[in-house]
Amino acid sequence: MVKQVQINLNPEAASDDNAVRKIAASLAGINPQDISLLRVIKRSVDARKKNIRVNLTVEIFSGGDSEVKEIVPFKPVDVSLKREVIIVGAGPAGLFAALRLIELGIRPIIIERGRDILSRKKDIARISREQVIDPDSNYCFGEGGAGTFSDGKLYTRSKKRGDNTRVLELFCLHGANENILYEAHPHLGTDKLPAIISNVRKSILDAGGLFLLGKKVTDLIIEGGAVKGVVTSDNETFLSPYVILATGHSARDVYDICHKRGVELEMKPFAMGVRVEHPQELIDKIQYHGNSRGEFLPAAAYNLVKQVDGRGVYSFCMCPGGFIVPAATSQEEVVVNGMSPSGRNSPYANSGIVVEIRPEDFIKYSNTGEMAGLEFQKELEHEAWKNGGHTQRAPAQRLADFVAGTASASLPKVSYFPGVTQSPLHSWLPKAIGRRLRDGLRLFGQMMNGYLTNEAVVLGVESRTSSPVRIPRDPERLDHVRVRGLYPCGEGSGYAGGIVSSAVDGTRAAEAIAREITP
Ligand SMILES: Cc1cc2nc3c(=O)[nH]c(=O)nc-3n(C[C@H](O)[C@H](O)[C@H](O)COP(=O)(O)OP(=O)(O)OC[C@H]3O[C@@H](n4cnc5c(N)ncnc54)[C@H](O)[C@@H]3O)c2cc1C
Repeated sequence: MVKQVQINLNPEAASDDNAVRKIAASLAGINPQDISLLRVIKRSVDARKKNIRVNLTVEIFSGGDSEVKEIVPFKPVDVSLKREVIIVGAGPAGLFAALRLIELGIRPIIIERGRDILSRKKDIARISREQVIDPDSNYCFGEGGAGTFSDGKLYTRSKKRGDNTRVLELFCLHGANENILYEAHPHLGTDKLPAIISNVRKSILDAGGLFLLGKKVTDLIIEGGAVKGVVTSDNETFLSPYVILATGHSARDVYDICHKRGVELEMKPFAMGVRVEHPQELIDKIQYHGNSRGEFLPAAAYNLVKQVDGRGVYSFCMCPGGFIVPAATSQEEVVVNGMSPSGRNSPYANSGIVVEIRPEDFIKYSNTGEMAGLEFQKELEHEAWKNGGHTQRAPAQRLADFVAGTASASLPKVSYFPGVTQSPLHSWLPKAIGRRLRDGLRLFGQMMNGYLTNEAVVLGVESRTSSPVRIPRDPERLDHVRVRGLYPCGEGSGYAGGIVSSAVDGTRAAEAIAREITP
């Protein structure tokens, strides 16, 4: 017999398996000894009141029942001699497209400009140590894509487009902890992600797929309105009537290639702003009503949104117990983002705070057509580089000073390894962003008492929240509206954002191709 019960416990009891078992048994009206299996299938922290509680949904199996819903295994087919599909980019979209193609009996040829995980780690360390950005191997480019050195948050607002659960299962089958299947806000952590991504590569290679690293696609071969293949930087040509373009939203050169080859692009809304860092202890105190979090609660997070002048100002990709990282992809720009380890145990809490950007904010670039938003994004990142001192040091200002419009006399310690330069961000951020950010942050200070403080620091700039362009595709077939066989997918296509939704999008592209090959 299988029963489901809802349990509401204090944090300490919720982490005690025996206590959970006893209460679950009593709620289900059975003897604890008769339980053959007990599984938590959902967990969330309710910190709305001073008395913090943990909500658990528990599944109880008794009487030798074995109807446990197991993870559906990954079922690879030997694809070494099967039809080939080119995948450009080994981020979540490209990797999950490859796994799905393999299950469907199709051979993925992955072409990735960046390096393998271990080499990439060294390239990333050089950014902090030597202030040098390798344009092909950095926080955004390389095996695993942009999400490899991240918080690895695995929740997505969108459930409309595909099977999120299957993506989580595949992560588990490649080494992720199974708690991601039931946590309300699952995350992997930057210390766990690299091994998981390496296991995915192994699955692809073991099944007979091809995985080429350090190879950049520099051109698309398009003839008669259909894609025929790609050309790489070392002048090699790869041919296939099916090309999955999963290059992420930082690959601006790929948008240039599309533009040059007549692959229609269109503008889309996006958001830019800054990253704000507080002491984690302060965020814990605010969110846990003056209590410190103790042993049994996670590092507290927040999720803030307000309308300012009819525009959304909101927190983005909040990383409790994390670090701010340099996410630029070329030398003369500064871009910040956040990551955290699985234990979320750094003394800092950071989050992007961004403003919705609209075409009227970048009218001066209108002569560049659908690339205007990208130009505005580039300009802001270059300004951050200049104001940071022409290195990867980020321009920074204390939070309350930023909101008040006064320069900071000093800066506190921050988690950002390349270092920070004191800079009056309020005076140089474009008006469309700076003024709305300051108004929004003032309102956030009213929502979270203690948030608006000079103990916190603002670092510029958080500019890569989502793609400023979309590569439009046919809603049914999922390939490009004008170029048959070219499947833009993941974050760079403008149809997905974040690890899970990009992975789901890659899966859908693979399935769409399989339908074409074997209708
Ligand atoms: C520091 C950081 C932290 C993040 N934290 C989170 C988080 O916690 N949760 C979350 O959901 N999302 C997070 N994100 C966003 C997330 O990583 C992306 O949404 C996701 O990786 C997009 O997947 P993708 O496969 O579409 O593109 P990407 O991951 O960007 O992958 C694209 C790949 O294509 C390759 N490529 C580009 N151009 C070429 C070319 N010309 N030839 C060959 N290869 C090419 C790139 O090298 C890259 O590996 C974070 C991003 C960063 C940078």
